[in-house]
Amino acid sequence: MGRLAVRGPWVVDDEKAGSGVIELGDRCVLPGFTDSHVHFPTWSLGLHQARLEGCRSLEEALDRVVAARERVAPGGWLRGLGWREGDWTEAPTREALDRAVPDVPVALMSKDYHSLWVNSAALALADAPLELPGGVVEPSGILRENSAWNFRDRYVRPTVDEMLEASREGMGVAAARGVVAIHDKDGWLGAFEVYARLLEADELGVRVWQSFPWDRLDDLRGLGLRSGFGNDMLRMGYLKGFMDGTLGSATARLLDGSGVEISSREVLEDVVRRAAEAHWPVAVHAIGDGANRAALDAFEATRDAWQPRGLRQRIEHAQLLDEADVSRFAALGVAASVQFSHAASDRDLAERLWEGREGAYAYRSLLDAGTLLANGSDAPVEELDPLAGIVAGVLRTLDERPAWRPEQAVSVEEALLATCVAPAWLEHAENRRGRLRPGMLADLVVLNRDPVTCPPEELPELRVEATMVGGRWTHGEL
Ligand SMILES: [Zn+2]
Repeated sequence: MGRLAVRGPWVVDDEKAGSGVIELGDRCVLPGFTDSHVHFPTWSLGLHQARLEGCRSLEEALDRVVAARERVAPGGWLRGLGWREGDWTEAPTREALDRAVPDVPVALMSKDYHSLWVNSAALALADAPLELPGGVVEPSGILRENSAWNFRDRYVRPTVDEMLEASREGMGVAAARGVVAIHDKDGWLGAFEVYARLLEADELGVRVWQSFPWDRLDDLRGLGLRSGFGNDMLRMGYLKGFMDGTLGSATARLLDGSGVEISSREVLEDVVRRAAEAHWPVAVHAIGDGANRAALDAFEATRDAWQPRGLRQRIEHAQLLDEADVSRFAALGVAASVQFSHAASDRDLAERLWEGREGAYAYRSLLDAGTLLANGSDAPVEELDPLAGIVAGVLRTLDERPAWRPEQAVSVEEALLATCVAPAWLEHAENRRGRLRPGMLADLVVLNRDPVTCPPEELPELRVEATMVGGRWTHGEL
């Protein structure tokens, strides 16, 4: 039976506690959750878009698109996400979309974010060629890779006002799920301005460690901006870039030479060196074992530049690793920023595309090798829900099937460390938040019961009852 004293924004010694006592009974208080990989404004916008996750047929997807039609403002886009054509017998086409929604431009991003399904009203707005290097325009009208991203960025990109409005609501949903901090990945979209405006209005309810695309390094450097600049609510954090594609689109770069190389080892070395000189750590997306090896090689080759400066580097996803590379994260001091929920939700795809490869979603092996593991959701790719992520890391299943590769499961304590403590270290905030002891910020979550003593099969019933950020309730005041 413990006690926790809070005064102002801080956890304090018992004798300095503020007035008022809350009896928690069987409930459990933990350090608040950090989502270490989230596209927050994009996810927030998605709360009201056509959501096509789990659609089992083209027909079902079209029904959901039609249902989303009424929420589209005059002159606006009908946006959506989450479709996966591999799950359907009938392929998505422009014609099918035209029949469902002829009069409003529609743009629907696939679940892996590498394909865009548009209707004729959307294409009519295009004033530049759709065919691009590294892009594909299929006869069916589906845009792939660079063609998809270019179309989205040019015509469907949300405004800062739209992101602001959506993020205000998103923060409420995140707080209800115990989130006190995020490592955001939408810097390229202008997310920093969104948070800065929310902070000005005293409306920012989650702490933000912001990424910026690494091709903006010269701009940041030119302005003299360095990682860590900001305050306890909003800080400029790190640079973000990509080594390869994804599992879902079969563009992850593998050691067998397959997949797509977005950045070479040499490019990453150059970025890491120049970033280190300007005091910026790098987070690099690497999914395939080839991409991960190249990223580790680059961090190793540039150690002299970043290690003395204390920069905390990270590889995002680290989804498939060759056995020889598992121990290199800890040896180099590079963190693995993973998504426990991906293991369970990607299992069928991974069995199919990465058949027989042992080092997929190898979280147990990474931990045993001493790796600093941080957990995130990659929302909107997966739902922003840390408890669901923790449960997926422990149970390695999302449905009635037995655990997938249970030997790679983590314990509840390990999952909590990855969700509460490790992210704070990546932000250089390990002495300010992530644990509940005197002198630390009072960022906490109250659960209906203790996950550590809860029988594993009852973990999916855990609920967030209240969330506090810096001494203020952001959800469910007790
Ligand atoms: Zn992501």
